[in-house]
Amino acid sequence: MPVKATVIIDTELCKGCELCVMACPVKGLQLSDRFNLKGYRVVELYTENCTGCVNCALVCPDAAIAVYREKKPQKAQTA
Ligand code: SF4
Ligand code: SF4
Repeated sequence: MPVKATVIIDTELCKGCELCVMACPVKGLQLSDRFNLKGYRVVELYTENCTGCVNCALVCPDAAIAVYREKKPQKAQTA
């Protein structure tokens, strides 16, 4: 079933380890030019092709990533 998905990254938890960058099958995560308050360069999502596979959230050692998936509405079936 087609899904629309995105991720929200808690940049204050991110340490810029790039494990999520390597885990993303659509290469949608990249280190950004921004730094968090602890001085780490943080990751951002740079694609609209996120599939919601959750790989990034599973590998993140700091639980900084939340994945949101939205099923596309199905047309009602009529008999
Ligand atoms: S949920 Fe999957 S496709 Fe989306 S950013 Fe994370 S690893 Fe990439
Ligand atoms: S795996 Fe987590 S801590 Fe590492 S770069 Fe990605 S979001 Fe940041």
